[in-house]
Amino acid sequence: MKMPLENLQAIIRCPVCNKKYRPTKMLVLDEDEKRTTLHLSCTDCGASSMVFVSLGQFGVVSLGILTDLEQSEARKVFFGQAVTSDQVIEAHQFLKQYTGGVEALI
Ligand SMILES: [Zn+2]
Repeated sequence: MKMPLENLQAIIRCPVCNKKYRPTKMLVLDEDEKRTTLHLSCTDCGASSMVFVSLGQFGVVSLGILTDLEQSEARKVFFGQAVTSDQVIEAHQFLKQYTGGVEALI
């Protein structure tokens, strides 16, 4: 959904403190004709969120989730490869047989 950031700013607020975002702290991760995905950092409370804005038959809808990702990390994660089912099974099998402490995995 190709809209200027200033227009999106008017409809998106920080989910923590409810302040409007400043365009300088808004990073467009992806956009097409009907959807825009943004990473937002609140200048007032410091919270970061990922927001998905889409244009549906009833108008503009936004969905935000809090994240601890910085903008550079968000870009890397968003465009990174998805976890495969084989990787999930591999992790499950590893953890099933693992007898050490959690601190050794960090
Ligand atoms: Zn905030």
